[in-house]
Amino acid sequence: MTTRIDLRGLLPEELAQLAVELGEGAYRGQQLFQWLHRRRVAGLEAMTDLPRVFRSRLAGQAVLPPVEVKNRLVADTGLTRKLLLRLADGELVECVLMSYKDGRRRHTACLSSQVGCAMGCAFCATGQGGFRRNLTPGEIILQALALVQDVQQEEPGARLSNIVFMGMGEPLLNYRAVLKAVRIFAHPEGWGISHRRITISTCGLVPQIRRLAGERPALELAVSLHAATNELRERLMPINRRYPLEELIPACRYYSRLTGRRVTFEYALIAGVNDRRDDARRLAGLLRGVLAFINLIPLNPVPGSPYKGVSQRKAELFASWLQEAGLAAAVRESRGRDIAAACGQLRSSTGWEVY
Ligand code: SAH
Ligand code: SF4
Repeated sequence: MTTRIDLRGLLPEELAQLAVELGEGAYRGQQLFQWLHRRRVAGLEAMTDLPRVFRSRLAGQAVLPPVEVKNRLVADTGLTRKLLLRLADGELVECVLMSYKDGRRRHTACLSSQVGCAMGCAFCATGQGGFRRNLTPGEIILQALALVQDVQQEEPGARLSNIVFMGMGEPLLNYRAVLKAVRIFAHPEGWGISHRRITISTCGLVPQIRRLAGERPALELAVSLHAATNELRERLMPINRRYPLEELIPACRYYSRLTGRRVTFEYALIAGVNDRRDDARRLAGLLRGVLAFINLIPLNPVPGSPYKGVSQRKAELFASWLQEAGLAAAVRESRGRDIAAACGQLRSSTGWEVY
């Protein structure tokens, strides 16, 4: 069996090349791209301005995998939804949409980059399940499509305003596919979501952060820090043995110098582990001179993990300690906890029966 190409994962110039190979003009590539990513039709039949022979030749070479929602959960009075999608090979992946009502309604899609994750962070449900495989660009876009279709049933015309790669997996270990999906999201003929509204979150892979710093237009970078000493960070995040803080922080500084962007540091507050005044002091020392914003979040509960989160009040107090030390920090609202859709709670295949 020959594997057919997923049309959704191709850039306009690749679609143009495919059109030429199939005996059509290159301009067909742009038409196809618009059908796929602006109008987001479900199949080739709907692409009515393309010649029938071209569509049938395309069908012989390429596929357009359907959105297959296996399960769906909604929380926060309809403002957070989580979908479990079935991929063509039967693997399952989760994605989340967070909607905001302030002023014009905004929708942020939280997408997965891998099925599972190999990084094994001690506080993360995805990490506990191990790694299955990388997602393709088409599968990354399929998640955004599924989320938009879901929300459009309630709000026709709803659009994605932001994308964050904070679902399952480590996006910088699937660098090429993630960046290709980003180009398709950002393309003005496609989804038209500005690079400034697309965030890559990483556990701290130093060479890839340095590589990402050179991408133009630049993306937003979030780094999962969670600890201000190597000793603690190693315990929480095995990757710290490979890339300790004395390599990670200069890479972040390099990122902001090259891109002019502030780097966001994610810091999940764990009761009795990283939430004391001393921890705040060390964190402030570590990030001195870095163009940084610190997102604080009380750790979300993960079954089987010994770690517990802190109260909202404690998180606010920790934020005030950082602010006193001159850092920009805020407590982030946690979404979807009661449907296990919050940070670190995604784990697809086994999760849905027990939630
Ligand atoms: N692998 C990437 C992106 C996916 S994880 C990364 O680690 O950055 C998305 C975010 O959720 C990361 O900041 C991660 O550290 C955080 N996270 C993981 N488990 C969590 C938990 N139990 N509570 C709060 N945040 C968690
Ligand atoms: Fe992987 Fe990120 Fe979870 Fe760590 S926090 S196990 S890197 S998904």
